[in-house]
Amino acid sequence: MTSPTATLAEVEQDARERLAAASDEAALEAWRTGVLGRSGTLTGLLRGIGALPEAERKHAGAALNVLKQSLEAALEERRDALRAAALASTVADALDVTLPGRPMRRGRLHPVTQVRREILDVFARLGFATVEGPEVELERYNFDLLRIPEHHPARDMWDTFWLDPSTTEGVSMLLRTHTSPMQARFMETHEPPIRIVVPGRCYRYEATDATHEWMLQQVELLAVDEGLSMANLKGTLQEFARQMFGPQRKVLMRNSYFPFVEPGVELSVDCFVCPGNDPACPVCRGSGWIEIMGAGMVHPEILEAAGYDTRRYTGFAAGMGVERVTMLKYGITDIRNLYQNDPRFLAQF
Ligand SMILES: [Zn+2]
Repeated sequence: MTSPTATLAEVEQDARERLAAASDEAALEAWRTGVLGRSGTLTGLLRGIGALPEAERKHAGAALNVLKQSLEAALEERRDALRAAALASTVADALDVTLPGRPMRRGRLHPVTQVRREILDVFARLGFATVEGPEVELERYNFDLLRIPEHHPARDMWDTFWLDPSTTEGVSMLLRTHTSPMQARFMETHEPPIRIVVPGRCYRYEATDATHEWMLQQVELLAVDEGLSMANLKGTLQEFARQMFGPQRKVLMRNSYFPFVEPGVELSVDCFVCPGNDPACPVCRGSGWIEIMGAGMVHPEILEAAGYDTRRYTGFAAGMGVERVTMLKYGITDIRNLYQNDPRFLAQF
């Protein structure tokens, strides 16, 4: 061996060819011993440097070291490739494509969503179209146009989240406390006959307990037409109660007050849990009746504000809490269960 550099290219080519042919761990180890080991080809060349003329030593040493590092890297690369191929073939062997697939766990609709859709379906069959309105609302629609002016004591019925006026250019805005503002909005742009339901989220600035949440979903009902009376209201809501809670349901209307209806009523259905006289009944507590919504004839001043001729048109309206209907339907006693997102609870519906 006159000069190691003269044979380097050949050594490298030979080493690389044999490395490419090594197909398992034992062959890799044999290659390593034969090339990089103590008595390997490359090691022998490195030892031979000492015998070279002084002028050639430095150059030959550097070239050999570069080759050594390059071959070491090639060895690791080949080892990784062999391992990856082995893993892939193991997976391929383990994969039996004839096995039936694993069933996916199916998702489900939230109970409140289910009940909201049921409510809307009942009213759709009765001829009511669904419309929606904004959750961030103007004070004007949420209160003023519903006969609840500023300083009216009835405003205390709704604890309100107000928007910071510095973010609304001074316009008085709030998170709607009920879906009723859509009554005024819809009448502003439509002529009778009107039959609509308005589903949506509402917000109340109040503490949370078993029967109160700061967010609730409502469904509002509005009908305006010639000749509508309390009988139409009662008939519509009785049909609703029977479709939601069972064909034998009776309804009871009791006098109540809401500023936007006259007369106003509280509508109840007879208890469907007990015979109507069980003091331990968790739903009616022995009274036999369960309140499910507020309702009434639309106040003529509201129809007038919309520009309707009140000698010709009358209307009725109702509003119910979807959570409350859900709780009654499924015997849920704490409203907070509905929004805690606990799958153990939600999977029951
Ligand atoms: Zn009862």
